[in-house]
Amino acid sequence: MDYVFPPAPQASAAVEGSAARFPVRRIFCVGRNYAAHVREMGKDPDRDPPFFFTKHAGALVEHGATVPYPPETEDLHHEAELVVAIGTGGRDIAEADALSHVWGYAVGNDLTRRDLQAVAKKQGRPWDWAKDFDASAVVGPVHPVASVGHPDKGFIRLMVNGETRQDGDLAEMIWTVPEVISILSQSMKLEPGDLIMTGTPAGVGALVPGDTCEIEIEGLGRVEFAIGPRG
Ligand code: MN
Repeated sequence: MDYVFPPAPQASAAVEGSAARFPVRRIFCVGRNYAAHVREMGKDPDRDPPFFFTKHAGALVEHGATVPYPPETEDLHHEAELVVAIGTGGRDIAEADALSHVWGYAVGNDLTRRDLQAVAKKQGRPWDWAKDFDASAVVGPVHPVASVGHPDKGFIRLMVNGETRQDGDLAEMIWTVPEVISILSQSMKLEPGDLIMTGTPAGVGALVPGDTCEIEIEGLGRVEFAIGPRG
């Protein structure tokens, strides 16, 4: 195939314990999936169907990265999240089959320009500019299901400069991983390489240039990144 200029490199994530990489196709994110975080964002937790937004695969950054402080914001927020890595695609996936589509799990951070999100909510605009900016998707090494199984409980924590900001448990998710996969696959055909960020527990807050942010999920290790100067 001839291209008029070289195509972008394939986005990918590291794989724990392997030199091979996990090719990333799309990044789906679940909104409001932990009750205490729903409350801190000023809403009442409910069992309304989950809603989704996306980040492009090129927004992915890895453990050890320095994320430039993004433009157009004065309120960059951290959101610690469990990331589900899809290995087998499908549509209308049954909840009972959903976990068989998962290749692995990773620690992630759904970086958010909270001030732009507030404006978008108020004006009825899309969330894209608040959520899908350069280097907005921190994703650590993917741990294969063969090694870690399917974590459905255990701590999920985030520290900024060593101080704990988020301290939740995967068991607090309003919509479980099988439910999220099943519901998402009713709207979109899932494909191998899709990642799903599954929502954040309470305690979201601001990051500023010079901060070091660590996220840890029980059984999935620890991911660290820094916030650099305004990009
Ligand atoms: Mn999020």
